[in-house]
Parts: sequence; C-alpha cells; structure tokens
Amino acid sequence: MGLTHESTDMSRLDDELERQAEISELQLAARIHAARIAGTGPHDCIDCDDPIPQERREAIRGCERCTDCQTIHEFQTARHYGGQR
Ligand SMILES: [Zn+2]
Repeated sequence: MGLTHESTDMSRLDDELERQAEISELQLAARIHAARIAGTGPHDCIDCDDPIPQERREAIRGCERCTDCQTIHEFQTARHYGGQR
C-alpha cells in the first residue's frame, strides 16, 4: 500500500503541476490576447494612411506604420542616434 500511496501522491503532484502550468499558460494567453486587443495601434499607417495588414498589427503590438514607413522610421531613428557619435 505504501508504494501505491507514494506513487499516487507523485502523480497527484504531477497533475497539480500540470494543471498549474496549464492555468498560467491560459492566463498568459488571455493576457496576450487582451494586450493585443488593447495594444494594437491604428488600422491605418500614421505616416501614409495605407491600411496596415491585420497580421502585421497582431504580430507587432502597437504597430502604427506600414512596412515601408516603419523601415523609413527605423532608418531615420538609427541615423539620428548614430549621428550623435
Ligand atoms: Zn505607411
């Protein structure tokens, strides 16, 4: 009975850990989902007013520019910071 009892406790612990991992995964997913809804930027690029693809808006949270404008923006930002040297 001793061994059976022990293994039962072990598997219960495993179940518990698994359950907790599952819950935190769900919570994390829910949080990411909520952040995505709250954090996604405008539907249109703030620079050229082109529509930003939904995929991009979901992939890059708070994305405000289309791919082209983001590239230009990043280039300008990099040049700005690089120019201080
Ligand atoms: Zn744009």
